[in-house]
Amino acid sequence: MVLAVLAAVIGYIVLALARPTRRCPRCKGERVTLTRWRHRIRPCRRCSGTGRAPRLLGPLIHRTYWTIRHERNHRP
Ligand SMILES: [Zn+2]
Repeated sequence: MVLAVLAAVIGYIVLALARPTRRCPRCKGERVTLTRWRHRIRPCRRCSGTGRAPRLLGPLIHRTYWTIRHERNHRP
C-alpha cells in the first residue's frame, strides 16, 4: 500500500518534470476566450494568452530540481 502511494508520487513528480504545464482549462489551449457579450474574442485572462496553465506543484518541483542542478555544477 505504501509502495503504491510512493510509486504514484514519484510518477507524478516525473510527469510534472516532463510537462510542467498543462492546457489552460479556461480557453482549452485556444489562448482566446469568447466573451458572452457580443461574442468578442479576447486573450484568455487566466493564462494571459499563453494557452498553458502551470501544473499543480510543477513550479515547485522545477525550482527544487534546478536548484539542485545548479548546486551540483557549482564547484569550489
Ligand atoms: Zn487560457
